[in-house]
Amino acid sequence: MLLSNKVCVITGAASRRGIGRATARLFALHGGRSIILDLDAAQAEAAAAELGEAHRGYACDVTDKAACVAVAERIVGEFGRVDVLVNNAGITQPLKFMDIGPENYDAVLDVSLRGTLYMSQAVVPHMRERKSGSIVCMSSVSAQRGGGIFGGPHYSAAKAGVLGLAKAMARELGPDGIRVNSITPGLIQTDITGGKLTDAMRTEILKGIPLNRLGDAEDVARACLILASDLSGYITGAVLDVNGGMLI
Ligand code: NAD
Repeated sequence: MLLSNKVCVITGAASRRGIGRATARLFALHGGRSIILDLDAAQAEAAAAELGEAHRGYACDVTDKAACVAVAERIVGEFGRVDVLVNNAGITQPLKFMDIGPENYDAVLDVSLRGTLYMSQAVVPHMRERKSGSIVCMSSVSAQRGGGIFGGPHYSAAKAGVLGLAKAMARELGPDGIRVNSITPGLIQTDITGGKLTDAMRTEILKGIPLNRLGDAEDVARACLILASDLSGYITGAVLDVNGGMLI
């Protein structure tokens, strides 16, 4: 099993159709202990319970540094270590450039960019002690294309920031045995996108996707599995596109 007994923390993983939830499910199938973090404790616990008794769900707002540190301590107290962190929590706001206010900028950058920093800082000391760990950061094709259908320019900025932060972390943490990589999903059918696409929009979007379909959460979960496990043991600082060929 690719993740046998590995303790895998996934942020923003309670949403039913989400990428984080699919990742927690796939990690569990491959022998990992999935720790589901999200804003709502009951939702996170229910999502973990669905996976079986080896798994846990806790409340953690990734924009709150003290909460990230506290949950990391709790996980290490209970399981003895953290092997994998997937920084998946993120929000979008479909705003035009001139409509972005300070509160919009803060909200979107806080979850993706500050959250990635805080949660990574919370687990890295534990990974360092064991000289081993894999951190996966969820960026977006919006970072590469400068905009998407549902995310505004501030979302692109946040997700481009994630790419830079992840590369810098990979450079600094490599000597400690910690790998850090990013994933740039294209258009994935989840709650962020679900129900908002009209047939006309879908037809137009598919013209730009050589594989001729939208992605699903499992497509991204499989990329997370590769980057979390030893399959990618000599890969760090990389960016893995999961977009059906959108950027070719
Ligand atoms: P989703 O809305 O289904 O899941 C996001 C989860 O993050 C939710 O469960 C939400 O409760 C949680 N969350 C929000 N703020 C949080 C906070 N402060 N602390 C902890 N958790 C918080 O969305 P998704 O489509 O599964 O997106 C997952 C990630 O993938 C996001 O980072 C998103 O930006 C990225 N992404 C999604 C797509 C797509 O097309 N769906 C494309 C590219 C990138």
